[in-house]
Amino acid sequence: MPDPQSPAKTPDTPLRGVKGMNDILLPAESAQWERFEDVVRRLLARYGYRNIRTPVVEPTALFVRGLGDVTDIVEKEMYSFEDAMNGDRLTLRPEATAGIVRAINEHNALYNGPLRVWTMGPMFRHERPQKGRYRQFHQLDVEALGHAGPDVDAELILMLRALWRELGLVEGRDLTLELNTLGQSDERKAHRAALVAYFQDHAAQLDEDARRRLHSNPLRILDTKNPAMQALVEAAPKLMDYLGEASRAHFDAVRAILDAAGLAYRINPRLVRGMDYYNLTVFEWITPHLGSQSAVGGGGRYDQLIETLGGKPAPGVGFGLGIERILLLLEAVGLQVGAPAPDAYAVVPDAASLPQVMPMLEQLRQAGVSVVLNAGGGSMKSQFKRADASGARMALIFGGDELARGEVALKPLRDAAAPQTLRPIADAARWADELRNA
Ligand code: AMP
Repeated sequence: MPDPQSPAKTPDTPLRGVKGMNDILLPAESAQWERFEDVVRRLLARYGYRNIRTPVVEPTALFVRGLGDVTDIVEKEMYSFEDAMNGDRLTLRPEATAGIVRAINEHNALYNGPLRVWTMGPMFRHERPQKGRYRQFHQLDVEALGHAGPDVDAELILMLRALWRELGLVEGRDLTLELNTLGQSDERKAHRAALVAYFQDHAAQLDEDARRRLHSNPLRILDTKNPAMQALVEAAPKLMDYLGEASRAHFDAVRAILDAAGLAYRINPRLVRGMDYYNLTVFEWITPHLGSQSAVGGGGRYDQLIETLGGKPAPGVGFGLGIERILLLLEAVGLQVGAPAPDAYAVVPDAASLPQVMPMLEQLRQAGVSVVLNAGGGSMKSQFKRADASGARMALIFGGDELARGEVALKPLRDAAAPQTLRPIADAARWADELRNA
């Protein structure tokens, strides 16, 4: 086995990034990310959610204990390693909730009451890379901690609808909501017993995965993608029939708010999600535009997780959203934004004038204008070529004669017929507005 740590064999062997981990390199691409992040920041502030940032690396035990040791993520998708310095077992976070709960517990952050928080960043899962599925991907993760009621469940779901609208996506056409309730653990236990009995009665129809999960995690059998087992799963005992009064009331209350807000959803009794920590409300937003990677984001309530991870018992609810999938979805429906262009591009025919030119560019930037300097000189022709390619609306031409008179020429780049005009250099802040709104 080659040692992945060892340097490339020869100095000229090109080094490549890790499979399934992408570079977001082109301005056209990063523009989509920045726009998404901007929209998210403004939207979450309107709902009173605050930004939180936790480490990308956590103790492996956090995820094993938090997510459950027979989940796909913990069984086969985690990037875990031993800290070479002290032997600690560490893992690159595969999801955000466990780390956030760990941080909240560790800093006793619920002491003063409930918290609404969000974070954005990379998550890591060792999955087979394909379009919409990567080994390093990014999530928007939103958590409301310390709230027990159905109001916050509905708030999170409605907030996602607001996000879709803000991005230009159309619910019903581009995204649909699936909703389910997982009840409480004693209700799930009763249901689970009925489920195990049912699957045992039909043992011959179970595939290997299902047989393995029959006693460890029978609920996950309902999540099977195996077409041969769909009919069996369809007819299995439904948790809904094992729910007590309080669980039913919680679900009904969430539904009543969504109904009143005019948000259509489909109740999917087979929606169980990939982590063991959920109870009561679970939901997922699905898109028809991304083939098999149809889940754009999902979440639910996790009222026992804080306690499971050693904190003082408190309820929680949250969701994770795949940013790459949202961006793919926006692309699929033609909602990409253009790469950002500067207001102006500074053409400098003579390098000797830079000491006069550059302080003036500073003034313009201070006044809120974005100006790209043609660094490194070059012929007028090549400078104008770059000015055009930059997408700037205006070229600022610092010709020797004009400079000598204390002036700069403004040349509109997007309108060939528009005339070139002169402005006084000393008053740059006065005509900066013209550039910004050009
Ligand atoms: P989960 O935590 O599994 O519910 O994932 C939440 C969201 O993250 C999903 O709905 C996807 O949009 C996204 N996601 C999960 N795994 C991946 C992955 N391997 N690559 C890209 N996006 C992912």
